Amino acid sequence: MSADRQGDVSKESKPESVLLRPLGTAAAPGQELVCVFGTGDMGRSLGLRLLQSGYAVVYGSRRPHSCGPLPQGAQPTGHEEAARSAALVFICVHREHYDFLETLAPQLKKKVLVDVSNNLKKNLYPEANAEYLQRLIPGAHVVKAFNTLSAWALQNGPSDANRQVYLCGNSDEGKQAVAEVATKLGFTVLDKGSLSAARELEDFPLQLFPEWRMPLRVAVGLTASFFFYLLIRDIIYAYVDQGKDVSFRIMVSLANKVFPIVSLIMLSLCYVPGVIAAFLQLYRGTKYRRFPDWLDRWMLCRKQLGLVALAFAFLHVLYTLIIPIRYYVRFRLSASTISQIKENRTSVFDTTLAWRADSYYSMGILGFGLFLLLGITSLPSVSNALSWREFSFVQSKLGYLTVFFCTFHTYLYGWDRFLQPYGYKWYTPPAYLLSLVVPSLLIVLKLLLLLPCVNRSLMRIRQGWERNDAEDGSARVLLT
Ligand code: NAP
Repeated sequence: MSADRQGDVSKESKPESVLLRPLGTAAAPGQELVCVFGTGDMGRSLGLRLLQSGYAVVYGSRRPHSCGPLPQGAQPTGHEEAARSAALVFICVHREHYDFLETLAPQLKKKVLVDVSNNLKKNLYPEANAEYLQRLIPGAHVVKAFNTLSAWALQNGPSDANRQVYLCGNSDEGKQAVAEVATKLGFTVLDKGSLSAARELEDFPLQLFPEWRMPLRVAVGLTASFFFYLLIRDIIYAYVDQGKDVSFRIMVSLANKVFPIVSLIMLSLCYVPGVIAAFLQLYRGTKYRRFPDWLDRWMLCRKQLGLVALAFAFLHVLYTLIIPIRYYVRFRLSASTISQIKENRTSVFDTTLAWRADSYYSMGILGFGLFLLLGITSLPSVSNALSWREFSFVQSKLGYLTVFFCTFHTYLYGWDRFLQPYGYKWYTPPAYLLSLVVPSLLIVLKLLLLLPCVNRSLMRIRQGWERNDAEDGSARVLLT
């Protein structure tokens, strides 16, 4: 900027032109000057990181003389001055206030404008914010970037979880300039292509656990259904049929029936889509046809299904551990001991019962141990350290073993109870029997797939072999 211009600036009384230090001195020789529009949270955090990374920073603000504390070394000035001073301008202003930028079009021509904005809702505007900015200033190189990082993350520097800066734009030159800044700030850059990808980037921060939604809905649905089912069978039935108030059982007994049931069904649901996919491939005779959307979506949330199932299994373990200290259990134990003493009775040791109880606990412990292993290996830091073969061995082979142990654990729990008529209160089957439907079906289908003749065909299909339907058709014609 010329000395005359600086003189003009200092004489001007408009707040937009207030300059605390001549812009020419904002950057030391060899230091790159970057402009930030907006002195809010994002602008300040970005400015701080830019300064820490060796850039000189000039802020463009509506109120440069009263815009609050700024990072030390940054210079506030009016938008026009700031726009002229740097080749790269970060627009840290909400989209609703972009109109003022249109008046700065001549100053911003050929400049790289970084749009960091986000919206409060998806599809709030007909076009993406960055596309709107490009329309307002057609002569500038608009690049969408940094919007997926929070002001807080920027201030604290990149850590593992937020190391990536996604960017997109129509100008390679613009993207290159932004990528250089992002790299210097310590981020890794991921180019998402042209500016038409801006909407996708703007929707990214609005996502709320998208892949957890289905598993959580399944968990809530199953928990609510089984809770009411058991409430009717265990509590209301006892009250109506025998006049007994056993409502205290809701807190521990009922909960400790619902949690394992939900856990077992959800664990099985992680493996059901794989089996359905295998049968579909066998039926179609190819792996090159797309699965239905619902199956794709189901497959994509298997990890989350498994982790929610593990959480329920964990609750089941905790509830089981407190059984011996429950008042109800201690009361029943001492009452039965006292009555035995009074009646001078001794109960006979039942070896079958001992075997059954020990096997039941053992299966449960083994199942839970393997379940924990599955959960641990699904963590990105652990799975990244495994080869694909190791990962699929744990998740598939050990996964099915987990389903088997947990299912067997439930069969041992039920033992021969399914034969007793008293178990079918109001003609309803015991809840544990219902919980066995999905895992039992899964195990049977998996065993079918493991049959050598079926497995061989499936392996061939998965290695790229395709059944020729034309040949099949002609063979069928010959046969008829
Ligand atoms: P903010 O704290 O509200 O700051 C916005 C700044 O815009 C204000 O400080 C103001 O600066 C300027 N401004 C306000 N009204 C204006 C107007 N009518 N005309 C011109 N300038 C005006 O917001 P922010 O959190 O920094 O967010 C800024 C942008 O960054 C938004 O688009 C947001 O979506 C995006 N973003 C924010 C975060 C975050 O964590 N905060 C993360 C990613 C993206 P002056 O008073 O200096 O003019």
